[in-house]
Amino acid sequence: MTCAVVRHHAMFSSLRHVDNTVQQLSSYVNLSLLFSDRSAVTGDSERMDGFPVKMTEAVCLGASLALSGICYYLHRKSRKTLDKLDDAPHFTIDGKLKDILKVTPGACLQYAVIEGAVHPVGEPLTSPFQKDFVGVLQKFMLREHRLVWNGLSRTWTDSERVLHQRVNAVPFVLVGSNETAVKVLCPLQASGVHMETTHEKFHQVNYGLGDIIGQYLSGEKLKGQLETEEMLKVGTTLTGVGELILDTDGTLNLRPPSNGSQYFLSITDFDTLLGEQESKAVLWKALAIGSALVGAGVLLWVGRRYYNQLKLRWEREQERREFERLQAEAPRAHAPARGPEVLQDGAEEYIENACVICLSQPRNCILLDCGHVCCCHSCYQALPHRRCPICRQDISRVVPLYHV
Ligand SMILES: [Zn+2]
Ligand SMILES: [Zn+2]
Repeated sequence: MTCAVVRHHAMFSSLRHVDNTVQQLSSYVNLSLLFSDRSAVTGDSERMDGFPVKMTEAVCLGASLALSGICYYLHRKSRKTLDKLDDAPHFTIDGKLKDILKVTPGACLQYAVIEGAVHPVGEPLTSPFQKDFVGVLQKFMLREHRLVWNGLSRTWTDSERVLHQRVNAVPFVLVGSNETAVKVLCPLQASGVHMETTHEKFHQVNYGLGDIIGQYLSGEKLKGQLETEEMLKVGTTLTGVGELILDTDGTLNLRPPSNGSQYFLSITDFDTLLGEQESKAVLWKALAIGSALVGAGVLLWVGRRYYNQLKLRWEREQERREFERLQAEAPRAHAPARGPEVLQDGAEEYIENACVICLSQPRNCILLDCGHVCCCHSCYQALPHRRCPICRQDISRVVPLYHV
């Protein structure tokens, strides 16, 4: 049972580690949000020379990069485990194993693979559901299944909660030929599938009409409880990967490696175990690449928008210069026409020809192809879209207007 406590402690500390990473991540995302917020507050996001990143884009980018980093780290970790498993020597449990360990320095093999049949040291555990099932590890679990209404996707989603869990263990050995036995220490610390399901029962909940209405109102529906029992049965062939040590009293022990390698106990054979690790590594790699691609996509999207903004700004600048050039070429022909007598009723003409947008400047540009003369050049430049304010037709070109 102490092993169980140690295992749980290890599990919680790793959970806490993940929690810390998530906290760091969220603070990073908050930070990037803060920056994008500031640019939004100053209102310079469109005019500033830096990258104009929107808040959602910053969140997507940060999250995908962080996810990619985590997945890559997990990929590296499982790849390392896989390499170690590949390098681990295989031993058969027989009389020679003791001799090998006797001549090994420290009477210890740091990482080795053995395979043998499970035998209890003392009295085995019996399944309360099937009297003929005896084992050395036993795990009871009671899980509650409910349907929870998801307002976002407008569907009922399944949710599971562990109500009760109990693990029992008795000391056991792996037996090979010649009755040679290796004692397995701390089996609950091991990874890999080392128990099979021996009992599974779903207790359905029956409801009346009133309950069903209540569930629809509360958005939660209890489906029932799933009771399971898993066992490592006596006589099962078990593959163990860990530290092999010959004790001073002459017993052989398999225990969690002291060099930080992963401890495995599996009811499948070694090749299957290797295959499982391989697919895990491939999965993490695919996830890392996938989220990195999402990040790259977001970057590309932001870059494209920035490029389009720059292009638009450049085109407008070109147009403004062209307009000014055309205006500068005209005044010689234009000036004599405006005699002092014309200036007399200039004020009236001014209002008649005022720009329809600002009503204070004379209309001085012709919008092509529609040909409307309706606004001044500065109002034209301020138009949010290159469309004629009168007929909504697209503007392909704008030329200055002269009165002669
Ligand atoms: Zn105007
Ligand atoms: Zn028009």
